[in-house]
Amino acid sequence: MNTKYIFITGGVLSSVGKGVTAAATGRLLKARGFNVAVQKLDPYINVDPGTMSPYQHGEVFVLDDGAETDLDLGHYERFIDIRLNKVCNVTTGQVYAEVISRERRGDYLGGTIQVIPHITNEIKRRVRMVSKATGAEIVLVEVGGTVGDIESQPFLEAIRQMRLDLGRENTAYIHLTWLPHISATGELKTKPTQHSVRELRSTGIIPDIIVTRSDYPITEGLQEKIALFCDVEEKAVIPMVTTPILYEIPLLLEETPIAELILKSLNLEARETPDWDEWRSLVAEVRRPKPEIKVAIVGKYVELHDAYMSVREALKHAALANGVEINISWIHSSDLEKDQGWEFLEQADGIVVPGGFGSRGIEGKIKAAKYARENKIPYLGLCLGMQVMVIEFARNILKKGSANSSEFDRSTPDAFIDLMPEQHDVTEKGGTMRLGLYPCKLIPGTKASEAYQTDLVEERHRHRFELNNDFRPDLEAAGMICSGVSPDNHLVEITEIQDHPFMLGTQFHPEFLSRPNRAHPIFSAFIKSICDKLNIHQNHTN
Ligand code: GLN
Repeated sequence: MNTKYIFITGGVLSSVGKGVTAAATGRLLKARGFNVAVQKLDPYINVDPGTMSPYQHGEVFVLDDGAETDLDLGHYERFIDIRLNKVCNVTTGQVYAEVISRERRGDYLGGTIQVIPHITNEIKRRVRMVSKATGAEIVLVEVGGTVGDIESQPFLEAIRQMRLDLGRENTAYIHLTWLPHISATGELKTKPTQHSVRELRSTGIIPDIIVTRSDYPITEGLQEKIALFCDVEEKAVIPMVTTPILYEIPLLLEETPIAELILKSLNLEARETPDWDEWRSLVAEVRRPKPEIKVAIVGKYVELHDAYMSVREALKHAALANGVEINISWIHSSDLEKDQGWEFLEQADGIVVPGGFGSRGIEGKIKAAKYARENKIPYLGLCLGMQVMVIEFARNILKKGSANSSEFDRSTPDAFIDLMPEQHDVTEKGGTMRLGLYPCKLIPGTKASEAYQTDLVEERHRHRFELNNDFRPDLEAAGMICSGVSPDNHLVEITEIQDHPFMLGTQFHPEFLSRPNRAHPIFSAFIKSICDKLNIHQNHTN
């Protein structure tokens, strides 16, 4: 079968849920027996989001191969239950870097390099790389930004050309818009959608399907109106009403004809009848009233929850697996330094210190770790959160008052967390951390090995610093267990505190591999320790 492409553009405004729509649509096609992958085209000029502040961009999602990508790739992986490849996130920066390096090599000698055809050809080449890299038969391509942005024009031109290159039966275009609600009249308005489709058509792209997101139900009359003004079939106007349950979206889309319309326009027939039983029981479990547990996330970007997207989702998956409702409170670590926010920490049944970079708020995180250790509150440290746990232990148990990470204090004699040797000569910041999947050996009899029920795992990483092996004997003698190590035993991957119900840190990011129906073992063990402490015993659903 030829590779089929579905291009998803967005209009009216951003943050309407294009990533989730692409992910959920991918799930619908997988449920019909197709091998799918999703690619995100990001119009910004950074080569990848790895160098951007989470305030700018939200979470940086890391793939098996170490690619630092847009958080939408997290949605794709979680909804479709796939593992993506670095070719699945393309930025303007990557495209230009490639074309300019070819120009410098002399590949275009005599030629003038232009947006069309050189940049657009490079975009098309990267779109076509996905099927080879992932084995996908259907590739969904999400174009970042909104139609009308100057930056996204080369991407729109490239995907427009792809219909000419590959033919109608191999390409489908979906446009996602927003229907604003006017409270004075109680109406949903279609005009911005009409304008947005007109803008899209002016680039030469004619949408096959229009998905209309709104906070209120969409009447048939409105669908008819949009169909008429935007020149699509009425049934190709797909309503998507906001739901508080993220994982309900595939079920809501399943009730619409979107999958059938896509297959028809790609000249495909469903290979399997979708079976949503497992997914339905997942959503039913989300809805079921459950005992509540409170978990505090102590971070430095907490105003922007998107900065911790995968952590939040992994916690929700683990809560679901343990039959409890999770109530997350977000605590600014620098507040704890100023003696603020402690009431939220004190109310929490469990504490998570997620990943992060730079010294702002670090002392607050160390205080949170001390509080968790002394009060025997379940604690999960993720990457920086594990490093913080080691620093706290060194300062307060080993009485090394100047214990720190050399990331925050270059001259400390007690660098319990230190730069990895292979990082010493690294000067460039982009894509140079220890990134992606690495193996971790689990030490039998530890909480980590009990959680995983196996002796070797592979997890995704994104760090430059590590536990300093010079201090390992002292830490271990005082009751810190290195329960996960690299197979050569050089790098500590997991630490835990001996006399504590659950205080565990991972140098890797387990959150990236959690799935709604397959909670990550470490997150699940953390939530279970909270349930045990609160004496909550529920039937596990998965
Ligand atoms: N800043 C720390 C390091 O580079 C932790 C990184 C992280 O939390 N992802 O090692």
